[in-house]
Amino acid sequence: MLLGRILTPHGFLRGRLHFSERVEAIEEAPVDGPYILPGFLDLHVHGGGGREVMEGQEGVEATVRFHLRHGTTGLLATTVTAPLDQLERALQGIRRAMEGPWGKALLGVHLEGPFLSPHRLGAQPPFPLPPDPEVAERLLSLAPVRVVTLAPELPGALELIRFLAERGVRVQLGHTEAGYEEARAALETGAVGFTHLFNAMTGLHHRAPGVVGLALERGAWAEIIPDGLHVHPAAIRLALKAIPGLYPVSDAVAAAGMPDGVYPLGAHRVEKRREGVWLGESLAGSTLTLDQALRNLVAWGVPLEEAARRLSLYPARYLGLSDRGEIAPGKRADLVALDEALRVVEVYLEGERVA
Ligand SMILES: [Zn+2]
Repeated sequence: MLLGRILTPHGFLRGRLHFSERVEAIEEAPVDGPYILPGFLDLHVHGGGGREVMEGQEGVEATVRFHLRHGTTGLLATTVTAPLDQLERALQGIRRAMEGPWGKALLGVHLEGPFLSPHRLGAQPPFPLPPDPEVAERLLSLAPVRVVTLAPELPGALELIRFLAERGVRVQLGHTEAGYEEARAALETGAVGFTHLFNAMTGLHHRAPGVVGLALERGAWAEIIPDGLHVHPAAIRLALKAIPGLYPVSDAVAAAGMPDGVYPLGAHRVEKRREGVWLGESLAGSTLTLDQALRNLVAWGVPLEEAARRLSLYPARYLGLSDRGEIAPGKRADLVALDEALRVVEVYLEGERVA
């Protein structure tokens, strides 16, 4: 049982939260206590705590444990572009981790690449491939792939989008040089989201609205990185007005939670300096965790209730997960309790205290 200010589907309510593996009841009572929110869901995570997904099963499990301490009770293990055999091994590791003790906190795979623009790799290692349904089919057979980020201007991209959408994969546009029209054709073919909106895509110009313009004009869903480095807070507030399903992601890499130094990002070695992770002049993922994302969004003027829902309910809906993302009877007891300053005090995964 937890006491506090519980975020229910009808707003905050003071009371007692009864739960086992599932939420059993919410009992209103004039009690004080922490904020109790649904566990955060992070659909773009490469690593954390010095380890990363590309290392295989142990790296995936260490990443999950690190982010659990920050209130993330479900994540998509996110790959980076790599030679195909390494990508295949990483996917096999993720599948094993999903069958292991921390599988409860793994939602599947986000394949960031390999079908990316060679000109917009950012800090992605230099192993992009042209879209190829046979390669995609092979990768999909190795682990439950839920999201694929690809560049829609590449030859064969539309065919691949159709192929993936038919298999229930959420296709997102990212690491792309596409213009507005090319990107719009991808949405009309079945792509549904945008990867780290504003970063590694064509920007908005009033005569060439680009991928950003398309997302703001007609995007239903998009990821955004609210770490204060990748996107200006004003651009986040603008995106919130335009995109109904905007949801924060960390894009965290191994360097998250670690002292300044050099850390792996797939085949690259990247440098963490204070809050940033860099590959030369390029941001190389983030050190963000979703509890910090919550604090940032609230500091930038987003109401706590809305920020919390965008960190839990929205990504759950995007992936079609109806058993989590909010605190209501029958839902999974994936919970995060936070103090007045929105620091994590307790985390529960299917009713079990994990932090
Ligand atoms: Zn990226």
